[in-house]
Amino acid sequence: MPELPEVETVVRTLEKQLFQDVITAVEVLYNRIIETDLNIFKSEIVGKQFNEFKRRGKYLHFIFSDNDELYVHLRMEGKFYIATSLEQLDMKHIHIVFKLKSNRFLCYQDTRKFGRFYYVKAGGHLKEIDKLGYEPFDSDLNGKIVYDLLRNYNSDLKSFLLDQTQICGIGNIYANEICYEVKKHPLTPTKRLKRKEADALLDAIRSILSRAIAAGGTTIRSYTSSLNVTGLFQLQVNVHGKNNELCPTCNGVIVKEMLHQRGTYYCPKCQRRPRGI
Ligand SMILES: [Zn+2]
Repeated sequence: MPELPEVETVVRTLEKQLFQDVITAVEVLYNRIIETDLNIFKSEIVGKQFNEFKRRGKYLHFIFSDNDELYVHLRMEGKFYIATSLEQLDMKHIHIVFKLKSNRFLCYQDTRKFGRFYYVKAGGHLKEIDKLGYEPFDSDLNGKIVYDLLRNYNSDLKSFLLDQTQICGIGNIYANEICYEVKKHPLTPTKRLKRKEADALLDAIRSILSRAIAAGGTTIRSYTSSLNVTGLFQLQVNVHGKNNELCPTCNGVIVKEMLHQRGTYYCPKCQRRPRGI
């Protein structure tokens, strides 16, 4: 599943390709991908010019020149392709085709069909976006705020990191890496983290995500393969996917456990199980 760094990379890649291009026609081949009103989507999006390319949490956020907006969540397998002809594409899993003024096609492919598009008229609101928490790189976010969020949260550190209403954009891979970076067991109750540990947590979130953005996202190739972006971050992962390998810090053995139905990787020596848990 694409997380903040992958989504950011997809947005920046699409910006290079689509800035100021205009949608001249749209074909929706699988209606349920459009989460907001389908008829409004189909009638409003024709004629729209791509103007701003943003990201909110794990959502791609396009703002058109008339300030109408489009949010896209790629979920598990969503990908964009830009093609000069549809003949070169396997149309089986392509669910939306936008024809562009530049005589290209922007195609949305999704083998699992879990991705969702949300069209928002200028000045409108989307409940999915309104409930998102802090952006990790928000300049208003600081260690004191993270400490308060942790104290008011009634669960463990890994759940907190995955909860999009607290700090958004982090998924399973980076949650595992962040817990390792701060040397905390994923099941540590957030209320037990001290003020300085909240500072360290925010530092770890920012450094891991920014390294990943710089590397172009873990699996970016599969999200925008036609755009030739290669993800290299996998090489820098310390624990995720490395069960039975050696911990780079202590040479202990990294383990994998299913916690909250998610594959959780950690070093039992560096990340001691909290008392009573
Ligand atoms: Zn270790």
